[in-house]
Parts: sequence; C-alpha cells; structure tokens
Amino acid sequence: MNRLLALSGFGAKGPACFLLEIEGRRLLLDLGEGPDSAMRPGLAGIGKVDAVLISHLHHDHTGALDLVSKLGRPPVFATGLTRSLMEGSHAAFSCTLPLSGGTEVAGIAIETGPAGHAPGAVWMRIGGPEGLLYTGDYSDEGRLFPATAPLPARALVFDASYGVADVSLAEQMAGLDAAIGDGPCLLPAPPAGRGLEMALHFMDAGRRVMLCPAHRRVAETLIAWESSPDKDVAAALTRLLRCSLPLDPGIASQDRLPDAVIIAGTADAAGGFAAGLATRIAADGVGRIVFTGHLAAETPARILTDEGLAGFARWNVHPRLACVRALLAALRPEIVMAAFLEADAVGRLARTLSGENFVFQPSFEW
Ligand SMILES: [Zn+2]
Repeated sequence: MNRLLALSGFGAKGPACFLLEIEGRRLLLDLGEGPDSAMRPGLAGIGKVDAVLISHLHHDHTGALDLVSKLGRPPVFATGLTRSLMEGSHAAFSCTLPLSGGTEVAGIAIETGPAGHAPGAVWMRIGGPEGLLYTGDYSDEGRLFPATAPLPARALVFDASYGVADVSLAEQMAGLDAAIGDGPCLLPAPPAGRGLEMALHFMDAGRRVMLCPAHRRVAETLIAWESSPDKDVAAALTRLLRCSLPLDPGIASQDRLPDAVIIAGTADAAGGFAAGLATRIAADGVGRIVFTGHLAAETPARILTDEGLAGFARWNVHPRLACVRALLAALRPEIVMAAFLEADAVGRLARTLSGENFVFQPSFEW
C-alpha cells in the first residue's frame, strides 16, 4: 500500500509539501514557505524521511528547506539548473535530478521531465506506472520554458492553482498589452519565471524594455547553462540582453521615468527594484503598475491593487482548464489530488471535469 499525505498544499494556495510513503520508503515532495504570510508546513510528528525531492526553485516550494534538520537531514534532490540558480541561497542540495530522464532515489525509480513554469522545473513520476505523478507547478503555455507531457501513473497530484479558469495566455497577452499603456509601466515579476517571458513578448512587440539586474542574471545563467537544449532560447535571451536597457539603481528617484516597460523583481514589489519603483509610481501617479501573478496577502502587490493604485492582468504560469483536462485524459489516473487550490474550488473543479476520482481530504492510499 502506498500513501500520500499533503502536509501543506491541499485545500489552500499554501506552501507545497507532500509526504509520499511508497515501497517502504518515505519521500518528501517540496518544502516551501508562503506564498501568503510566510506560511510553513507543519512537520510535527513526521519523523525521518529518506529524501526530499524539489520540483523547482520558487519560494513556496523551497522556502522551508532549513527544516530538513528536523527530518533526519535527508539528501535533498533538485535539477542542476535549479541548484545553479539557487546558488548563494541557504538551501543545501546534495544531489541532482535529471531535467529529463530516469534515476533512483532511496531505491525508488524516479522519472522526470520539464514542467514549463520556471527554469529547471520538473514533473516527477515516482515508483513507475504503479506509483505517483507529481506535477509540481506546471504550465504548457510558456515559450522560454516548454513542458513535456508527464508519464501516466495510478495516482496524481497536480497543479490546480487556477481552478476552472480557462483564459489562454495568448488572450491574456492582448489584455496586458492594453493594460500597460504607452508611458512608463512597471511590471513586477519573478526573475526566474514569467519576467523574462514577458520581456521577450514586449521586445518582439517593439516596446522599449528595461530589465532589473536579477532578471539579467537569470538570463545570463540560462544562456551559459551547459545543457541548455534549446539554441533558439539562448539566442532570444542574448538578443533580449542586448536590446533591453539595464535599470539604474537610482531610477526610482529620477525626475522622470522613461517611457518603457520596466520588468523588475520582486513579483510582489516587497523587495528588489520593484519595491522603490512601485512606491514612486503609486505616490506621484505618473506611470502605471500592473501585477500579473498571485497577490500574496499583506504584500505591496495586494495592497496597491486593493487601493486601486495598481492594475492586475494575469499571465498564466499554471495550467488552465483545457490543459488540466488534457492532462487527466492522457494520464488516466485512478486517484487524483488537485493541489494549491481552496477547498470549495476543488469541488467546483471536480464537478466541471466530472472527476469522480478526486479526493477531498489531504491524504489518500492506493
Ligand atoms: Zn512556482
């Protein structure tokens, strides 16, 4: 008997952390913090685990990695690109997962493939066709970070962040083009995520683009990445670095902001170049701010949009309904957990998909 327990990540947009008991082993899938109010998974009574598998670098999947000391200090696995991009953070990785391929962790077969969504992000099948497919955060609409189709398994934990929302990224791009206007516009974004995708979109549309140093660093890492499989991606990013303008540290206090699309971290405007720029634009009302991702509680992103000082236009980085439908049809799992979604929305999603195999509690066995 195998068992999956969502320590966090079921019934809410909370940090990702799932305990998988399979073939006599105990594996932890992700160990995140946030995205709202620095929420952390409860690990009391969990005991030792054999390994921690990280799907991708975002804070809500990695931000509680310091807690491995409470789990018997197991080895922590992530892809080489994830490890490279997180260099200098406090996260201590000991082992590398393939971006695409097979390996063994604690004697359990693991297969991985690109999950889109962010650089280095993977889905993972654990324990073969009889085991579990965990998508982590997944998106099949990205240009820089394409996804591959996950492998079928009897059990599935999938990224249901958008519930029944079904607007395509192409439609959202048109909406965002209208929302940013012609003058200065700040788009706070995660540097290792949709920020570079948005920058390429606006560069191709002939807009003047400014990129913060954090975005430029990620682009440089991706260009230099040894196993970068896609030469078109490296060429596009090289062109982006050449054509976009760097952000000067003093930009927030300049007399006049340039008429440009300014793409800067952090995505919630709580830090990085986005923080000072958002404060400046909100204060003097010249220019626009448009947020494009999750509006975490008590962050400038949430406060500024609630006060009408910033706009919101979603840029998909999770699967829309059509993608979820296709995933379920291809994978044909016996049992399904819709993760990262409020409990009532899980019910709505299951009804919309006629999903009789959805679970409505944080654990299941198979
Ligand atoms: Zn993510």
